[in-house]
Amino acid sequence: MAQAIQLTAPNGLSYSQPTGLFINNTFVPSTSGKTLKSINPYDESPITEVASATADDVDLAVTAAREAFTSVEWRGLTPSERGLLLLRLADLCEKHEEILATIDAWDNGKPYEQALGEDISEVISVFRYYGGWADKIHGSTIDTGEAKLAYTRREPVGVCGQMIPWNYPVMMAAWKLGPALACGNTVVLKAAEQTPLGVLYLANLIKEAGFPKGVVNIVNGLGSEAGAAIAGHPGIDKIAFTGSTNTGREVMRAAAANLKAITLETGGKSPLLVFEDANLDQAVKWSHVGIMSNMGQICTATSRIYVQDTIYDTFIKQFKQYTIDNSKVGNPFDSSTNHGPQVSKAQRDRILSYIQTTKDEGAELVLGGGGEDTAAEKKGYFVKPTIFSNISQTLTAVREEVFGPFVVIQSFSTEKDAIAKANDTQYGLGAAVFTENITRGHRVAAAIQAGMVWINSSQDSHFAIPFGGVKQSGIGRELGEYALSAYTQVKAVHVNLGTWL
Ligand code: NAD
Repeated sequence: MAQAIQLTAPNGLSYSQPTGLFINNTFVPSTSGKTLKSINPYDESPITEVASATADDVDLAVTAAREAFTSVEWRGLTPSERGLLLLRLADLCEKHEEILATIDAWDNGKPYEQALGEDISEVISVFRYYGGWADKIHGSTIDTGEAKLAYTRREPVGVCGQMIPWNYPVMMAAWKLGPALACGNTVVLKAAEQTPLGVLYLANLIKEAGFPKGVVNIVNGLGSEAGAAIAGHPGIDKIAFTGSTNTGREVMRAAAANLKAITLETGGKSPLLVFEDANLDQAVKWSHVGIMSNMGQICTATSRIYVQDTIYDTFIKQFKQYTIDNSKVGNPFDSSTNHGPQVSKAQRDRILSYIQTTKDEGAELVLGGGGEDTAAEKKGYFVKPTIFSNISQTLTAVREEVFGPFVVIQSFSTEKDAIAKANDTQYGLGAAVFTENITRGHRVAAAIQAGMVWINSSQDSHFAIPFGGVKQSGIGRELGEYALSAYTQVKAVHVNLGTWL
């Protein structure tokens, strides 16, 4: 199998798509000859095949990363030089932004304009942001008296195994690579099997930016094979995983074998509360953004909406109309489209089965509720924006993450009732509160069990602000300065200044 293939995307853009595993700055075939097929979710046509890693390939990648970790070429760099490599990578991503966005739209199904303006734009910002951090990571001195000089060093953790999901293929890679590299670690990264192409193109840019060989290794492959091999590998010091809560549990179990450091970004069932004193137009607009963006495939999607009973009917009427007026379902490469297909047949079918269960459990369908039969396209993994109302806390779709353009709406009576309903979940990732009462806004934000709370917005995260969850939504934080703690370990140095034995 060739290690690159010339492809022409549906928007006419031609480029060279790497198809191998990226180990030691070289694209290589998998030792087993296994491949993964990448499918265009818009029309179900095959795009290309790429190498699929087995445990043996992961072993090779870990060896490369281990050697690079102690190499002069990498560890001999000054922090400023490391930062410069990230800044160069950001510039290269900017130069190649149209190709990266095209690949993401093609492989994942997300609208091209969003891939370009949101995903890849954030990729560039994240690499710049962490490029800036690289020479600002330092320890401290601790005064324990004249007889001792004590100081701390913040050192890289070592070889990091990173597993990412398919919903933001290149952006999730940037969230993980940025802080890991700024801190001086080396990486073995595995993209999701549904979207392997973007990170392979990124690999080209990593090499071109000047990262020494072995610093970043990319091994696409099945979660059960390559992912499991990374999670359990004794040569890996830290795992950073983004994906479902169940897989996160498995990864944690495997990582326990050699007590790897671990950060998990897992599932969510984030609540959005609308109080009667809210600016209703704003609440409607952000509620739509909160669940329909990226076709609902966002871990922080505000998928449970709770509206105060005094404005419940009005909210539902307005929300339904806004969703009808603002959902342009169609071809990801049409500039008018803001809602493409779901990433895969399996995800589409999963969402449709939740829709059926929700109907069977007696909720009221307000809008949508279908896939193929009602979709604007004859082919492709489409699900129409779907809204259910009159639900109860016991409904399956209130308890479980659907990960689609699917929202359930319920009323609440008092602030206490709203908080109790919001917190009645195993998850704790995001939450949103709509109120014009500043005191209430902060009070509710404090009472909600979540890693992130938006007051009067939803989903407008930022790379400088920590991102992560509580309860079964994860462990640790990504982004911002906080991510640097996840990729460094503290060494204390004691210098004896006078107590000779
Ligand atoms: P997933 O858990 O199936 O897969 C995530 C990644 O883990 C993929 O790369 C997959 O190949 C790999 N994997 C699967 N099984 C594995 C195993 N046994 N060992 C090691 N790795 C394994 O999730 P998904 O379907 O790709 O993504 C959807 C889920 O991700 C949703 O539940 C969503 O909430 C979650 N998600 C969370 C965040 C967050 O930041 N909290 C962000 C995006 C997605």
